[in-house]
Amino acid sequence: APVATGAAKKAELGRAGWTLIHTTAATLPTPLTPAARAGAVALIRAVAATYPCLECREHFAAFVAVHPVDTTSRDSILQWTCTAHNAVNVRQRKVAFPCHDIKALDARWGDCGCDRGAPPAAAPAAAP
Ligand code: FAD
Repeated sequence: APVATGAAKKAELGRAGWTLIHTTAATLPTPLTPAARAGAVALIRAVAATYPCLECREHFAAFVAVHPVDTTSRDSILQWTCTAHNAVNVRQRKVAFPCHDIKALDARWGDCGCDRGAPPAAAPAAAP
């Protein structure tokens, strides 16, 4: 397939970004382990700090600042990623996903198509 550029590339990046974020959240272990929780928070912080599209990064960082990630459980993290995505959907006048519906979120994002292995055993190294 031809390499996407411009707005098509931005949209492709967005779909890839949400795929990573939602699939990561959906495949966190239940019960949530401290290491998995730390990894999910680190991923969200990294997106807020480094996502390539400036407008997207700033919106996402502002969302994180106003709505801290609820790290109570796998479900709450997955629902948080959904509400963060819905904030963009609203701006883009798209249909909001029913974030209260865990079954719908699992049906969309619960299968990574890969061997998930064991949950992470250690928290990611702290930033230097
Ligand atoms: P997407 O919106 O990428 O959705 C992909 C699939 O996710 C959908 O087909 C649906 O099955 C599922 N889905 C939809 N909503 C939800 C939800 N709430 N929860 C779970 N699953 C859902 N674009 C901008 O123009 N401006 C921005 O500020 C912006 N900020 C972004 C911030 C981040 C962190 C990311 C990752 C992307 C951002 N984007 C932004 C990109 C934008 O959100 C879309 O990804 C892009 O426009 C492509 O849209 P799409 O309609 O193809 O599908």
